[in-house]
Amino acid sequence: MTDTFETHNAELIKCRKCPRLVAWRESVAQTKRKAYQDQTYWAKPVPGFGDQQARVMVVGLAPGAHGSNRTGRMFTGDASGNFLFRALHRCGFTNQPNSDHIGDNLTLTDLFITAVCRCVPPFNRPHISEILNCQPWLQAEVHLLQNLQGYVALGKIAFDGILRMYKAQDVDLPKMVFGHNQYYDLGENLPWLLCSYHPSQQNTQTGRLTEDMFDGIWERVHGMLNSDQL
Ligand code: SF4
Repeated sequence: MTDTFETHNAELIKCRKCPRLVAWRESVAQTKRKAYQDQTYWAKPVPGFGDQQARVMVVGLAPGAHGSNRTGRMFTGDASGNFLFRALHRCGFTNQPNSDHIGDNLTLTDLFITAVCRCVPPFNRPHISEILNCQPWLQAEVHLLQNLQGYVALGKIAFDGILRMYKAQDVDLPKMVFGHNQYYDLGENLPWLLCSYHPSQQNTQTGRLTEDMFDGIWERVHGMLNSDQL
């Protein structure tokens, strides 16, 4: 395991362990979306980012094709990120409501944002084998977050990925089922886990995840951090 985020990120962005995803991330970067034809896409694994002293790790699914696969920062430059960062800003976890590109001066307080799969998958669907390949990168970030108290899992795939990471370490977990605003205690001396629907357009445009519902998640996190109570 690396001992700094800098060395971790330097290793991560060189990863080519999943041939299907390497081919896809580079192919998307060649074809591009019309609006971004003049931009050079990142087209590499996307590292987690945020407050390195964070008490909460937010875990998403994977980079968006024209969002973080373009900008190189998680939840940056697409509709999911816009929905996420507006909510985080309303609840005081960021200094601004937008996340447009690296260098936009966005800062996070007490949150670190990452994903179970670091390369954009076709149709937003990584294979289980690819998530497993990526698991050590997540585990390394968990190890580096020395103040970690809890996770927010954005979507069931992130939820399953977090549980899989602990099971791989032979942690005996209670029975858990994904549900929006569902809270779990993973066990003694382990972080808590709060589930949320993913802020994908599929959820936000259909009303499955509303701004009020999402604010409820971040207000709950805020309350837990500030009172150490549920
Ligand atoms: S998904 Fe993860 S393991 Fe696979 S190539 Fe990308 S960074 Fe490497």
